[in-house]
Amino acid sequence: MEFRFTAEEEAFRTEVREFLKIELPPGWSALGGFDSETELGSEQQSEFGRKFNKKLAKRRWLTMPWPVEYGGLKASIMQQMIYNEEMAYASAPTGLSMGVAWVGPSLMIYGTEEQKKRYLPTIASHDEIWCTLYSESEAGSDLASLQTRAVRDGDEWVINGQKIWTTGAHSSDWGWIAARTDPEAPKHKGISMFILPMHAPGITVAPLINMAGMHGFNEVFFQDVRIPASYIVGQENNGWYQLAVALDFERTSVAGVARARRWWEDLLRFSREQRGFVEARPEVRHRLAEIGLEIEAGKNLCYRVATLQQAGQIPNYEASIAKLYSSEVGRRLSGTGMELLGLYGQLHPRSKYAYLRGRIERYYQVSVAETIAGGTSEIMRNIIAIRGLGLPKG
Ligand SMILES: Cc1cc2nc3c(=O)[nH]c(=O)nc-3n(C[C@H](O)[C@H](O)[C@H](O)COP(=O)(O)OP(=O)(O)OC[C@H]3O[C@@H](n4cnc5c(N)ncnc54)[C@H](O)[C@@H]3O)c2cc1C
Repeated sequence: MEFRFTAEEEAFRTEVREFLKIELPPGWSALGGFDSETELGSEQQSEFGRKFNKKLAKRRWLTMPWPVEYGGLKASIMQQMIYNEEMAYASAPTGLSMGVAWVGPSLMIYGTEEQKKRYLPTIASHDEIWCTLYSESEAGSDLASLQTRAVRDGDEWVINGQKIWTTGAHSSDWGWIAARTDPEAPKHKGISMFILPMHAPGITVAPLINMAGMHGFNEVFFQDVRIPASYIVGQENNGWYQLAVALDFERTSVAGVARARRWWEDLLRFSREQRGFVEARPEVRHRLAEIGLEIEAGKNLCYRVATLQQAGQIPNYEASIAKLYSSEVGRRLSGTGMELLGLYGQLHPRSKYAYLRGRIERYYQVSVAETIAGGTSEIMRNIIAIRGLGLPKG
């Protein structure tokens, strides 16, 4: 077994680290900005994130896996994984990547020449931001049940319905929306994909504040929203199948374990400096030791997915194992962090008594999201049980 990165890959990792050292202020964290006053979602932090992403775009790093003619670097899976690992470890504000992750690849496969010319360059340059409008209140894990309708009316499509959990809808220029175009067809066969101008008349974006008090996602309502007929992407009623194909990018979930490693190291440093928190508490020391092992195991599960992809194979349940494990490690680590800090752990970052700038409290609350977004832990376990272990469906 060759268990080493190539010299080029190591050189690339160094390049990313050097970039981050220069571009991120000392002590930076996306879970608390420059200091405890600038929280995720604040104006100051958004503006910093925008400038940071423009710098990434200039290096073509945002769209690194894309072909060169569309503004990418045709980077290998390993290179993408290293990039994602380093960005997550540094807690860099890489922002919304939906345009890069699936809108762009879908347009490359299914879009018209006009659509490619119009939208790919502005995704690559970070001049236009996209959000993803899939989930509905009755269609999350079972996404094919979605009910938002798109009806053809002459040269236009008319959209009515409602989406939920739309990350960044309030700051996006364009939406990538799945809507039902044939209600009579079986549920997977009546869905189409559309480009949606987020400022079109009839669209209402209502904020949803998460349990950490942050505004990340939204409800979005559509009332007779009219878009040109040319905004459909690919074939009518073929949307479900297009969604699956366009997911051909790095799927290792390495960002989750890299983030966990960062917070674990912070907690270790803290425990060495503030010895009173761990003295006479063997159970906390043991949890910290165990989590170190879990992070290492999680990293290897993620590397395994990358290795499969690099070899041209399509990871299936292996990607679900990596996603499940790395998101659950985050939950366990943040729980241990809260236990370690005791009552101090509950303090808001703004409190002068908060340790570690209150970031463990933030992490504890946001780490829940990782076990839900992109497929819940239960759905991952279903996939592992059925596809990985060959167990019968319930
Ligand atoms: C931070 C965050 C950002 C998100 N951003 C977006 C976005 O930008 N755009 C978008 O469209 N969506 C987004 N989502 C929504 C996300 O995709 C859904 O929350 C997710 O797919 C789960 O769907 P649901 O919330 O409707 O839960 P449900 O599917 O209703 O599930 C409820 C519970 O039942 C369990 N469950 C469901 N089905 C099964 C089953 N078959 N077997 C066992 N257990 C089951 C689930 O695991 C869960 O615990 C985001 C979610 C989060 C947390």
